[in-house]
Amino acid sequence: MKRSPFVLFLACCLLSLAAVCEAVVPPGQVRVTFLDVARKGDGGGAGAQADDYLRSLERRWGRGGIGDAIVVETPERCVLIDGGLWTKGRAVVLPYLKRRGVARLDAVILTHQHGDHYGGLAEILEALPAGEFITNGLAHPAKAYRKLLETVQSSGARFRVVRGGETFDWGGGASATVVQGAGARGVSPDDYNNNSLVIRMTFGKTAFLFAGDCEDKEEKAILASRRDLRSQVLKVGHHGSSSSSTYPFLRAVRPEIAVVSVGEGNRFGLPHREVLDRIASFNCTVYRTDLDGSVTVVSDGTRLSVETERARPVSAVTGKPLKEEYYRFESEAKGLLRRKDYAGAAARYRKALLVEPGAASAHSALGYCLKKQGRETEAIKEFSAALPGDPCDSYANLHLGLILMRRDRTRALGCFEKYLDCHADTHWAGLAREKAGFLRARKGSELRKEGREEEAIQELEKAVALAPGNAFAHLQLGLLYPPRDLEKARRAIARCLEIEPEGRYAAEARRVAAELEADR
Ligand SMILES: [Zn+2]
Repeated sequence: MKRSPFVLFLACCLLSLAAVCEAVVPPGQVRVTFLDVARKGDGGGAGAQADDYLRSLERRWGRGGIGDAIVVETPERCVLIDGGLWTKGRAVVLPYLKRRGVARLDAVILTHQHGDHYGGLAEILEALPAGEFITNGLAHPAKAYRKLLETVQSSGARFRVVRGGETFDWGGGASATVVQGAGARGVSPDDYNNNSLVIRMTFGKTAFLFAGDCEDKEEKAILASRRDLRSQVLKVGHHGSSSSSTYPFLRAVRPEIAVVSVGEGNRFGLPHREVLDRIASFNCTVYRTDLDGSVTVVSDGTRLSVETERARPVSAVTGKPLKEEYYRFESEAKGLLRRKDYAGAAARYRKALLVEPGAASAHSALGYCLKKQGRETEAIKEFSAALPGDPCDSYANLHLGLILMRRDRTRALGCFEKYLDCHADTHWAGLAREKAGFLRARKGSELRKEGREEEAIQELEKAVALAPGNAFAHLQLGLLYPPRDLEKARRAIARCLEIEPEGRYAAEARRVAAELEADR
C-alpha cells in the first residue's frame, strides 16, 4: 500500500504528540512511585501469560519475594529505575504506566545486574519506547541479562554508562545526580550490590535518594566522597537487609520517609529488625511494599505527601493500624524462625502481642512456634485466638487442623475446608485436600457402620472429590453402592485396586470385586 504524504504527516503529528504527552503530573509537582513488584507469584493480570522461560527464571528468584521498580514522573519526563523480577514488568510496571498515561520513557535506569532489578525490563522495553538505557556498565554472564542488552539494542534506546558525579535534568525543576556508580574503592566488580548506581534527585527543597542494593562497602565509599546525601525520602538499600543502611549513612541522609521494597514472607526474612530499629531512631516513617502495596510520594518542592495502595491491617482492639514497634518484633521473630529458633521466635511474638494484643498474625505464628516445640495444647490456644481476627489465616487453619486430627475430627475438617476456601491454589492445598478427604472418608465409614447408608454415600463421595487417591473411601463406596448401582460399585472397587493394588484394602477389594462379578 502506498502511503499518502498526508497520512505520513498525520503519523508524525501523532508521534510528536505522544512524545510530549509522556508525563502527566502538573507543573510544580514530582511524583515518585515505588511499585509493589516484590510480591510472590506472577502478580496476577497480564503476568499470568508470561512464557515458561520467564516463569522458570522467576521461580528461582520469585520465592525470594524481593525486587525494585520505581517510576519518577516530573511535569516533563518519566524515568523508570529498575523493573522488578521477570514477570513483574508486564504484570505490574506496564499496567501502572498505562494507567498513568505514560506512552514513552525518557530514561530507564538499571541500578545493577541482579534479576530482581533487571528481570522485568526486557518486556517493558519491548512494549514502550525509551530514550536512554542507563547502567553502571558492568557485564553479567546470565543469559537473561544478555537478552536484555539485545532488547535494549533493538529498542533503539541509547545505551549509556554513567559514573559517580554525572547529572541528569529531568525537567520541570527536577534534577538528579549519580551519587555513586560502579567501581567504588574496595569493591570487586562481581559484588553487584555494592556497584549499584545510587541516585539522588532534588526537586525544590525536597530530595529523594534511590540506594539500589548498595551495602555497607558502597555506603562507606559514598560517605568518603562527601557528596550531599541529605534526603527526606530514602529508598532503603537492598530491601532492608542488615548489610545496608549503616548508622553513618543514615545520619548523612537523615530520612523522614523510608521505603522498603520487599515481598511478604520473602525467603531472606527481609526487612531485618536491625535496619528497622536504626531507621526508627531517626524519627522516620517506614513504608513497606509488603504491608502498604505500591507507595507514591508526591513532592510540591516543599511538602511531601504519601499515598499507599493498601491500608495497613488494623488492631481489633484499638481500630488503628498496628504499631511500628509490633512490626519490628515481628521482623525479628521471622528472622529467628528462619533459623529454626522456635523458642526465640515465640518469645518475640509474645512481645509483639504485648504491643498489639489480639494481632491475628502474631497469635498464628506463635501457635506455629509452639507446635514446633511439641506444645500442642498451647498451640491450639494461640491458633484459636488468631482465627476470629483472620478467619482465613493459612497457618492457623492448616496447623490447627493437623493437631486436631487426633483430638477433634469435626473441628479439624472445618479447619482444612476453611483453608481450601481461602487458599485453594497454594502449595499446601494438596495436603489440606488429602487430610479433609481422609476425615470425610472416616466419617462416611462410621455412618455406614451405623446403617445410615445414604448419608454415608454422600460423605464418601465428598471424600473422593477432595482426595481422589483415597483407596479406603473408594472401597467403602464399593460396599455401599450395591444393590443400588452395581456398575458404580464395580468402578469404585476397580479404582481402589488401581490406587493400592497391594495395599491394606486390596484383599477386601478383591473379595468384593469377585462378588460383584458373580452378580453380573
Ligand atoms: Zn535487589
